[in-house]
Amino acid sequence: MKLGIVGLPNVGKSTLFNSLTKAGAESANYPFCTIDPNVGIVTVPDERLKKLGDLYQSKKVTPAVIEFVDIAGLVKGASKGEGLGNQFLSNIREVDAIVHVVRCFEDSNIVHVDGSINPVRDIETINLELIFSDIEILERRIAKTSKGARMDKTLAKELKLLERVKAHLEDGKLAKTFELEDEDEELWFSGYNLLTAKPVIYAANVKEDDLADEAAGNAFVQEVRANAKEEDCEVFVICAQIEQEIAELDEEEKAMFLEELGLQESGLEKLIKASYSLLGLISYLTSGEDETRAWTIKKGTKAPQAAGKIHSDFERGFIRAEVVNYLDLLDCGSLSAAKEKGLVGLEGKEYVVKDGDVILFRFNV
Ligand code: GDP
Repeated sequence: MKLGIVGLPNVGKSTLFNSLTKAGAESANYPFCTIDPNVGIVTVPDERLKKLGDLYQSKKVTPAVIEFVDIAGLVKGASKGEGLGNQFLSNIREVDAIVHVVRCFEDSNIVHVDGSINPVRDIETINLELIFSDIEILERRIAKTSKGARMDKTLAKELKLLERVKAHLEDGKLAKTFELEDEDEELWFSGYNLLTAKPVIYAANVKEDDLADEAAGNAFVQEVRANAKEEDCEVFVICAQIEQEIAELDEEEKAMFLEELGLQESGLEKLIKASYSLLGLISYLTSGEDETRAWTIKKGTKAPQAAGKIHSDFERGFIRAEVVNYLDLLDCGSLSAAKEKGLVGLEGKEYVVKDGDVILFRFNV
Protein backbone atom coordinates (compact mmCIF):
# COMPACT_ATOMS: atom_id res chain seq x y z
CA MET A 1 0.00 0.00 0.00
CA LYS A 2 1.32 3.34 -1.07
CA LEU A 3 0.32 6.84 -0.03
CA GLY A 4 1.43 9.98 -1.80
CA ILE A 5 2.00 13.21 0.11
CA VAL A 6 1.02 16.18 -2.03
CA GLY A 7 0.57 19.91 -1.45
CA LEU A 8 1.91 23.26 -2.62
CA PRO A 9 5.53 24.16 -1.87
CA ASN A 10 6.33 25.32 1.68
CA VAL A 11 3.28 23.83 3.34
CA GLY A 12 5.26 21.30 5.39
CA LYS A 13 5.28 18.17 3.19
CA SER A 14 8.94 17.34 3.64
CA THR A 15 8.78 18.07 7.36
CA LEU A 16 5.90 15.63 7.65
CA PHE A 17 7.57 13.07 5.42
CA ASN A 18 10.82 13.25 7.36
CA SER A 19 9.08 12.77 10.67
CA LEU A 20 7.11 9.87 9.27
CA THR A 21 10.19 8.10 8.02
CA LYS A 22 12.14 8.88 11.15
CA ALA A 23 9.34 7.54 13.31
CA GLY A 24 9.41 4.46 11.11
CA ALA A 25 13.17 4.04 11.27
CA GLU A 26 12.76 0.78 13.17
CA SER A 27 11.53 -0.63 9.88
CA ALA A 28 15.05 -0.29 8.49
CA ASN A 29 15.14 -4.08 8.24
CA TYR A 30 12.72 -3.89 5.34
CA PRO A 31 14.91 -4.44 2.32
CA PHE A 32 13.00 -2.11 0.01
CA CYS A 33 13.23 1.01 2.13
CA THR A 34 16.36 2.63 0.78
CA ILE A 35 15.60 2.47 -2.94
CA ASP A 36 14.42 6.04 -3.22
CA PRO A 37 14.92 8.96 -0.83
CA ASN A 38 11.37 10.10 -1.55
CA VAL A 39 9.89 6.80 -0.46
CA GLY A 40 9.60 5.95 3.21
CA ILE A 41 8.39 2.75 4.80
CA VAL A 42 6.37 3.40 7.91
CA THR A 43 5.19 0.81 10.41
CA VAL A 44 1.54 0.77 11.42
CA PRO A 45 1.30 1.24 15.20
CA ASP A 46 -0.46 -1.79 16.66
CA GLU A 47 -0.39 -2.32 20.42
CA ARG A 48 -1.70 -5.88 19.96
CA LEU A 49 1.60 -7.06 18.52
CA LYS A 50 3.72 -6.43 21.57
CA LYS A 51 1.27 -8.18 23.89
CA LEU A 52 1.00 -11.15 21.61
CA GLY A 53 4.76 -11.27 21.15
CA ASP A 54 5.18 -11.32 24.93
CA LEU A 55 2.68 -14.14 25.27
CA TYR A 56 4.51 -16.31 22.75
CA GLN A 57 7.94 -14.98 23.70
CA SER A 58 8.52 -14.40 20.02
CA LYS A 59 12.06 -13.69 18.89
CA LYS A 60 10.79 -11.06 16.49
CA VAL A 61 7.77 -8.78 16.20
CA THR A 62 6.95 -7.50 12.73
CA PRO A 63 4.31 -4.80 12.25
CA ALA A 64 2.39 -4.02 9.08
CA VAL A 65 3.85 -1.26 6.94
CA ILE A 66 2.67 1.56 4.72
CA GLU A 67 4.76 3.21 2.05
CA PHE A 68 4.75 7.01 1.90
CA VAL A 69 5.95 8.89 -1.15
CA ASP A 70 6.94 12.54 -0.90
CA ILE A 71 5.61 14.07 -4.08
CA ALA A 72 7.19 17.49 -4.16
CA GLY A 73 6.99 19.92 -7.01
CA LEU A 74 3.29 20.08 -7.62
CA VAL A 75 2.74 23.73 -8.52
CA LYS A 76 0.30 25.81 -10.50
CA GLY A 77 0.72 24.79 -14.12
CA ALA A 78 2.10 21.33 -13.30
CA SER A 79 -0.32 19.68 -15.73
CA LYS A 80 1.09 21.95 -18.44
CA GLY A 81 4.56 20.74 -17.62
CA GLU A 82 5.62 23.60 -15.32
CA GLY A 83 8.40 22.63 -12.90
CA LEU A 84 8.67 18.98 -13.96
CA GLY A 85 4.92 18.85 -13.41
CA ASN A 86 4.06 15.84 -15.51
CA GLN A 87 6.64 13.68 -13.82
CA PHE A 88 5.12 14.42 -10.43
CA LEU A 89 1.64 13.78 -11.69
CA SER A 90 2.66 10.35 -12.92
CA ASN A 91 4.10 9.62 -9.47
CA ILE A 92 0.70 10.36 -8.01
CA ARG A 93 -0.94 7.98 -10.44
CA GLU A 94 0.91 5.09 -8.78
CA VAL A 95 -0.36 5.67 -5.25
CA ASP A 96 -3.42 4.10 -3.61
CA ALA A 97 -4.40 7.21 -1.71
CA ILE A 98 -3.36 10.80 -1.24
CA VAL A 99 -2.40 12.76 1.86
CA HIS A 100 -2.92 16.37 0.91
CA VAL A 101 -0.99 18.70 3.23
CA VAL A 102 -2.56 22.12 3.60
CA ARG A 103 -0.86 25.06 5.25
CA CYS A 104 -2.94 26.33 8.15
CA PHE A 105 -0.15 28.11 10.00
CA GLU A 106 1.04 31.68 9.68
CA ASP A 107 4.75 32.35 9.72
CA SER A 108 6.10 35.47 8.08
CA ASN A 109 9.50 33.80 7.70
CA ILE A 110 8.13 31.12 5.46
CA VAL A 111 7.00 32.37 2.11
CA HIS A 112 3.70 31.18 0.72
CA VAL A 113 3.87 30.69 -3.05
CA ASP A 114 0.67 32.67 -3.51
CA GLY A 115 1.46 35.37 -0.98
CA SER A 116 -1.08 34.62 1.75
CA ILE A 117 -2.48 31.79 3.85
CA ASN A 118 -5.66 30.55 2.24
CA PRO A 119 -6.06 26.79 2.52
CA VAL A 120 -9.17 26.41 0.39
CA ARG A 121 -7.57 28.33 -2.47
CA ASP A 122 -4.49 26.08 -2.09
CA ILE A 123 -6.63 22.95 -2.22
CA GLU A 124 -8.35 24.22 -5.33
CA THR A 125 -5.01 25.02 -6.98
CA ILE A 126 -3.79 21.46 -6.47
CA ASN A 127 -7.11 19.86 -7.35
CA LEU A 128 -7.27 21.85 -10.56
CA GLU A 129 -3.90 20.48 -11.65
CA LEU A 130 -5.09 16.96 -10.89
CA ILE A 131 -8.31 17.60 -12.80
CA PHE A 132 -6.40 18.92 -15.84
CA SER A 133 -4.23 15.86 -15.80
CA ASP A 134 -7.27 13.59 -15.62
CA ILE A 135 -8.92 15.41 -18.53
CA GLU A 136 -5.82 14.77 -20.58
CA ILE A 137 -6.03 11.06 -19.80
CA LEU A 138 -9.68 11.01 -20.80
CA GLU A 139 -9.02 12.87 -24.03
CA ARG A 140 -6.45 10.28 -25.02
CA ARG A 141 -8.93 7.51 -24.24
CA ILE A 142 -11.66 9.26 -26.16
CA ALA A 143 -9.44 9.55 -29.21
CA LYS A 144 -8.69 5.81 -29.02
CA THR A 145 -12.22 4.69 -28.29
CA SER A 146 -14.05 6.82 -30.83
CA LYS A 147 -12.30 5.08 -33.72
CA GLY A 148 -14.11 1.81 -33.12
CA ALA A 149 -17.25 3.17 -31.49
CA ARG A 150 -19.31 3.38 -34.68
CA MET A 151 -18.96 -0.35 -35.30
CA ASP A 152 -18.94 -1.63 -31.75
CA LYS A 153 -21.77 -1.15 -29.26
CA THR A 154 -19.59 -1.72 -26.20
CA LEU A 155 -17.09 0.86 -27.31
CA ALA A 156 -19.94 3.26 -28.05
CA LYS A 157 -21.17 2.81 -24.51
CA GLU A 158 -17.72 3.41 -23.09
CA LEU A 159 -17.29 6.48 -25.24
CA LYS A 160 -20.42 7.96 -23.69
CA LEU A 161 -19.04 7.29 -20.23
CA LEU A 162 -15.72 8.93 -21.11
CA GLU A 163 -17.48 12.01 -22.38
CA ARG A 164 -19.71 12.25 -19.32
CA VAL A 165 -16.75 11.96 -16.95
CA LYS A 166 -14.86 14.54 -18.95
CA ALA A 167 -17.78 16.99 -18.78
CA HIS A 168 -17.96 16.39 -15.01
CA LEU A 169 -14.28 17.28 -14.63
CA GLU A 170 -14.60 20.27 -16.90
CA ASP A 171 -17.18 21.58 -14.44
CA GLY A 172 -14.33 21.65 -11.90
CA LYS A 173 -15.60 18.59 -10.07
CA LEU A 174 -13.52 15.64 -8.87
CA ALA A 175 -13.86 12.23 -10.51
CA LYS A 176 -14.70 10.67 -7.14
CA THR A 177 -18.01 12.55 -7.06
CA PHE A 178 -19.05 11.17 -10.47
CA GLU A 179 -21.97 8.77 -10.29
CA LEU A 180 -21.50 5.51 -12.15
CA GLU A 181 -24.58 3.84 -13.54
CA ASP A 182 -23.73 0.14 -13.84
CA GLU A 183 -21.03 -2.48 -13.43
CA ASP A 184 -19.59 -1.93 -16.90
CA GLU A 185 -19.05 1.68 -16.05
CA GLU A 186 -17.50 0.81 -12.69
CA LEU A 187 -15.03 -1.51 -14.37
CA TRP A 188 -14.01 0.94 -17.08
CA PHE A 189 -13.83 3.84 -14.67
CA SER A 190 -11.49 2.04 -12.28
CA GLY A 191 -9.26 1.20 -15.24
CA TYR A 192 -8.71 4.91 -16.01
CA ASN A 193 -6.91 5.28 -12.67
CA LEU A 194 -7.87 8.94 -12.40
CA LEU A 195 -6.02 11.06 -9.87
CA THR A 196 -9.15 12.78 -8.63
CA ALA A 197 -10.85 9.44 -8.01
CA LYS A 198 -8.30 8.47 -5.36
CA PRO A 199 -9.19 8.65 -1.67
CA VAL A 200 -7.82 11.75 0.04
CA ILE A 201 -6.99 12.68 3.62
CA TYR A 202 -6.37 16.34 4.27
CA ALA A 203 -3.59 17.03 6.75
CA ALA A 204 -4.15 20.53 8.11
CA ASN A 205 -0.72 21.69 9.22
CA VAL A 206 -1.21 24.06 12.15
CA LYS A 207 1.12 25.84 14.53
CA GLU A 208 1.92 24.24 17.86
CA ASP A 209 -0.47 26.43 19.88
CA ASP A 210 -3.44 25.28 17.82
CA LEU A 211 -2.81 21.58 18.38
CA ALA A 212 -4.46 21.17 21.77
CA ASP A 213 -7.52 22.87 20.34
CA GLU A 214 -7.80 20.17 17.72
CA ALA A 215 -11.54 19.57 17.92
CA ALA A 216 -12.39 23.19 17.24
CA GLY A 217 -9.39 23.88 15.04
CA ASN A 218 -8.26 27.32 14.05
CA ALA A 219 -10.22 29.33 11.47
CA PHE A 220 -8.13 27.92 8.62
CA VAL A 221 -8.83 24.38 9.76
CA GLN A 222 -12.53 25.09 9.85
CA GLU A 223 -12.40 26.21 6.24
CA VAL A 224 -10.59 23.01 5.30
CA ARG A 225 -13.17 20.95 7.18
CA ALA A 226 -16.09 22.64 5.41
CA ASN A 227 -14.42 22.05 2.08
CA ALA A 228 -13.59 18.41 2.85
CA LYS A 229 -17.17 17.75 3.85
CA GLU A 230 -18.29 18.55 0.32
CA GLU A 231 -15.74 16.08 -1.01
CA ASP A 232 -16.58 13.52 1.66
CA CYS A 233 -12.98 13.44 2.93
CA GLU A 234 -11.40 13.30 6.35
CA VAL A 235 -9.32 16.09 7.85
CA PHE A 236 -6.43 15.58 10.24
CA VAL A 237 -4.92 18.34 12.29
CA ILE A 238 -1.18 17.99 12.69
CA CYS A 239 1.78 20.17 13.45
CA ALA A 240 4.53 18.91 11.20
CA GLN A 241 7.19 20.74 13.18
CA ILE A 242 6.15 19.10 16.44
CA GLU A 243 5.92 15.72 14.75
CA GLN A 244 9.49 16.14 13.64
CA GLU A 245 10.53 16.85 17.21
CA ILE A 246 8.51 13.91 18.54
CA ALA A 247 10.05 11.58 15.99
CA GLU A 248 13.47 12.23 17.54
CA LEU A 249 12.40 11.10 21.01
CA ASP A 250 12.48 7.65 22.54
CA GLU A 251 9.23 6.00 23.68
CA GLU A 252 9.33 7.28 27.25
CA GLU A 253 10.17 10.86 26.34
CA LYS A 254 7.53 10.74 23.68
CA ALA A 255 4.79 9.72 26.12
CA MET A 256 5.75 12.56 28.46
CA PHE A 257 5.88 15.09 25.67
CA LEU A 258 2.47 14.09 24.35
CA GLU A 259 1.00 14.30 27.81
CA GLU A 260 2.30 17.83 28.16
CA LEU A 261 0.58 18.71 24.92
CA GLY A 262 -2.63 17.06 26.12
CA LEU A 263 -2.52 14.39 23.41
CA GLN A 264 -2.84 10.61 23.61
CA GLU A 265 -1.00 9.69 20.49
CA SER A 266 1.05 11.60 17.98
CA GLY A 267 -0.58 13.08 14.89
CA LEU A 268 1.45 10.70 12.79
CA GLU A 269 0.09 7.64 14.54
CA LYS A 270 -3.41 8.92 13.97
CA LEU A 271 -2.65 9.69 10.37
CA ILE A 272 -1.16 6.26 9.71
CA LYS A 273 -4.12 4.49 11.30
CA ALA A 274 -6.58 6.69 9.42
CA SER A 275 -4.93 5.96 6.08
CA TYR A 276 -5.15 2.28 6.85
CA SER A 277 -8.89 2.42 7.37
CA LEU A 278 -9.36 4.87 4.51
CA LEU A 279 -8.11 2.15 2.19
CA GLY A 280 -10.39 -0.45 3.75
CA LEU A 281 -7.47 -2.40 5.19
CA ILE A 282 -7.35 -4.56 8.29
CA SER A 283 -4.71 -6.75 9.93
CA TYR A 284 -4.75 -10.34 10.97
CA LEU A 285 -1.99 -11.71 13.14
CA THR A 286 0.21 -14.76 13.28
CA SER A 287 2.16 -15.63 16.36
CA GLY A 288 4.73 -18.16 17.42
CA GLU A 289 8.13 -18.51 19.00
CA ASP A 290 9.94 -17.25 15.94
CA GLU A 291 7.78 -14.32 15.03
CA THR A 292 4.64 -12.38 15.82
CA ARG A 293 3.47 -10.52 12.81
CA ALA A 294 0.66 -8.37 11.42
CA TRP A 295 -0.50 -9.03 7.85
CA THR A 296 -2.37 -6.46 5.82
CA ILE A 297 -5.48 -7.47 3.90
CA LYS A 298 -8.52 -5.75 2.42
CA LYS A 299 -11.69 -5.98 4.46
CA GLY A 300 -13.73 -8.90 3.14
CA THR A 301 -10.75 -11.11 2.24
CA LYS A 302 -11.41 -14.84 2.67
CA ALA A 303 -9.09 -17.19 4.56
CA PRO A 304 -7.23 -18.76 1.59
CA GLN A 305 -6.38 -15.38 0.04
CA ALA A 306 -5.35 -14.05 3.45
CA ALA A 307 -3.05 -17.07 3.76
CA GLY A 308 -1.66 -16.22 0.33
CA LYS A 309 -0.22 -13.02 1.80
CA ILE A 310 2.20 -15.18 3.76
CA HIS A 311 3.05 -17.50 0.92
CA SER A 312 1.35 -18.56 -2.29
CA ASP A 313 1.74 -22.22 -1.17
CA PHE A 314 -0.50 -21.43 1.81
CA GLU A 315 -3.23 -20.30 -0.54
CA ARG A 316 -2.83 -23.13 -3.04
CA GLY A 317 -2.74 -25.88 -0.43
CA PHE A 318 -5.18 -24.29 2.00
CA ILE A 319 -7.06 -26.82 4.14
CA ARG A 320 -8.41 -24.80 7.00
CA ALA A 321 -7.61 -22.03 9.45
CA GLU A 322 -7.58 -22.15 13.22
CA VAL A 323 -8.85 -18.76 14.26
CA VAL A 324 -9.01 -17.09 17.64
CA ASN A 325 -9.77 -13.50 18.43
CA TYR A 326 -6.76 -11.66 19.79
CA LEU A 327 -8.51 -10.57 23.01
CA ASP A 328 -9.80 -14.10 23.72
CA LEU A 329 -6.33 -15.48 23.24
CA LEU A 330 -4.80 -12.97 25.64
CA ASP A 331 -7.57 -13.61 28.17
CA CYS A 332 -7.01 -17.36 28.09
CA GLY A 333 -3.24 -17.06 28.17
CA SER A 334 -2.56 -19.77 25.59
CA LEU A 335 -3.98 -21.31 22.46
CA SER A 336 -4.72 -24.61 24.19
CA ALA A 337 -6.61 -22.86 26.98
CA ALA A 338 -8.62 -20.97 24.35
CA LYS A 339 -9.34 -24.30 22.63
CA GLU A 340 -10.61 -25.82 25.86
CA LYS A 341 -13.03 -22.94 26.21
CA GLY A 342 -14.22 -23.47 22.65
CA LEU A 343 -12.94 -20.08 21.50
CA VAL A 344 -10.83 -21.36 18.62
CA GLY A 345 -12.76 -21.79 15.38
CA LEU A 346 -11.89 -24.24 12.62
CA GLU A 347 -12.66 -22.25 9.52
CA GLY A 348 -12.85 -23.23 5.87
CA LYS A 349 -12.39 -21.56 2.50
CA GLU A 350 -15.36 -19.26 2.82
CA TYR A 351 -14.34 -17.74 6.13
CA VAL A 352 -14.01 -13.95 5.96
CA VAL A 353 -11.01 -12.88 8.03
CA LYS A 354 -11.61 -10.22 10.67
CA ASP A 355 -9.37 -7.53 12.08
CA GLY A 356 -7.52 -8.93 15.11
CA ASP A 357 -7.93 -12.60 14.19
CA VAL A 358 -4.94 -14.64 15.27
CA ILE A 359 -4.64 -17.41 12.69
CA LEU A 360 -2.82 -20.68 12.28
CA PHE A 361 -3.17 -22.00 8.73
CA ARG A 362 -3.27 -25.70 7.90
CA PHE A 363 -2.24 -26.48 4.37
CA ASN A 364 -0.93 -29.19 2.02
CA VAL A 365 2.40 -28.69 0.32
P1 GDP B 1 7.35 21.57 1.62
O1 GDP B 1 7.90 22.49 0.58
O2 GDP B 1 5.86 21.50 1.56
O3 GDP B 1 8.00 20.24 1.65
O4 GDP B 1 7.62 22.31 3.00
P2 GDP B 1 8.72 22.03 4.11
O5 GDP B 1 8.38 20.81 4.89
O6 GDP B 1 10.08 22.11 3.50
O7 GDP B 1 8.45 23.27 5.05
C1 GDP B 1 8.68 24.60 4.61
C2 GDP B 1 9.08 25.43 5.80
O8 GDP B 1 7.99 25.51 6.73
C3 GDP B 1 10.25 24.83 6.58
O9 GDP B 1 11.09 25.89 6.94
C4 GDP B 1 9.59 24.21 7.80
O10 GDP B 1 10.44 24.20 8.91
C5 GDP B 1 8.39 25.10 8.01
N1 GDP B 1 7.28 24.39 8.65
C6 GDP B 1 6.80 23.17 8.36
N2 GDP B 1 5.78 22.84 9.19
C7 GDP B 1 5.61 23.89 10.00
C8 GDP B 1 4.72 24.15 11.07
O11 GDP B 1 3.88 23.33 11.45
N3 GDP B 1 4.83 25.39 11.66
C9 GDP B 1 5.75 26.32 11.27
N4 GDP B 1 5.81 27.50 11.87
N5 GDP B 1 6.63 26.08 10.28
C10 GDP B 1 6.56 24.88 9.66
